[in-house]
Amino acid sequence: MIDIPKAAYIHIPFCVSKCWYCDFNSYSGMDSFFDSYACALMSEIRQVRKNDQSSLQTVYFGGGTPTVLPAEKLEAILGELRCSIGIDEDAEVTLEANPGTIDANGASRLRHAGFNRISLGVQSFDDAYLRTMGRIHSRDQAAAAYNTVREEGFCNVGVDLIFALPGQGLGHWSDTLDAALQLKPPPEHLSLYELSIEEGTRFAELLAAGRLEPVDEDLRLRMYELTISKLSEAGYEHYEVSNFARPGFRSCHNMVYWMNGPYYGFGAGATSYINGKRSRRVSDPRKYINAINTGCEAIEFSESLDCRERLGETIIQGLRMLEGVDLARTQRRLGLDPMAEFAAEIESLQRRGLVELANSRLRVTHSGLLLLNDVSQEFVTCA
Ligand code: SF4
Repeated sequence: MIDIPKAAYIHIPFCVSKCWYCDFNSYSGMDSFFDSYACALMSEIRQVRKNDQSSLQTVYFGGGTPTVLPAEKLEAILGELRCSIGIDEDAEVTLEANPGTIDANGASRLRHAGFNRISLGVQSFDDAYLRTMGRIHSRDQAAAAYNTVREEGFCNVGVDLIFALPGQGLGHWSDTLDAALQLKPPPEHLSLYELSIEEGTRFAELLAAGRLEPVDEDLRLRMYELTISKLSEAGYEHYEVSNFARPGFRSCHNMVYWMNGPYYGFGAGATSYINGKRSRRVSDPRKYINAINTGCEAIEFSESLDCRERLGETIIQGLRMLEGVDLARTQRRLGLDPMAEFAAEIESLQRRGLVELANSRLRVTHSGLLLLNDVSQEFVTCA
């Protein structure tokens, strides 16, 4: 069976400044490359037309901060996708935006261009923490951006927040969740990530210098438990480890990743996953632009997964979803029986009370959710 991607991710690797916790492929001070980058992206997208005519059901512009590009450039890139690959009428078309980089004119133009979902990087409602994280916006600007996109017609808005910030207590995180729920109308989607301090970030430097104290494990766990109970009470479905949605508003695009489905990736550092082959484009935007403009291979890494590796990844990704992974469907898709390939691992996890199997669905229990890394490790097949 050929995996035809119905999903496309477009990476915009530019930001106003670099946040202190961020290890994403994003760069500040590159405004002079905006035009050439947008042209290279469109050129890369145009090349797909020759091989494939299927149209997209989900499109996701992420970054970086896509909204640092002028709205007309984002509109042009989306137009190129529509023209070259095709986008279904009812496709989910998401744009990541950060407060301080989107105004009413831009939001209106982007809504009319076909973007129908916004994922807003709020991260905190506390000005002191926003400064500590190196964010460019204030609490008031976050609220203003939220209201703006609502007023300009976005009916599907997600908000991203981070917890376990240095020095943060349970009460403070509870207040943050309340602030998100008090937005009017409340967000359709909430992505709530635990801070992890990654190498090469300013936070990692501060940690090494003894100037940052991470939140301890027990408090992290209590924050996560509080998140689940509070949002469940507020009517959100906890459908993935870090993601909560009002009924009917799960992220269709991210579901493709969690079901280990195929997707195109366009832009610097973007990954495509097609027919078990994963390939990542060069991360540096300048090198990406040069490669595309000179007709060179813009790929910096690729690997082909065999069926067992794909199976292992499908289970690992699927267990991130609270409803788990459908083993019968997975067997049909990959031609391998998960129960035969991972019999000992599944049995051991069941015995330890970390996963459960019902109607061919394998899913984590609450204990398994809290130990997801350990559970996932059982299905790792690559070295
Ligand atoms: S806005 Fe997002 S991508 Fe950009 S530096 Fe901050 S966290 Fe990283």
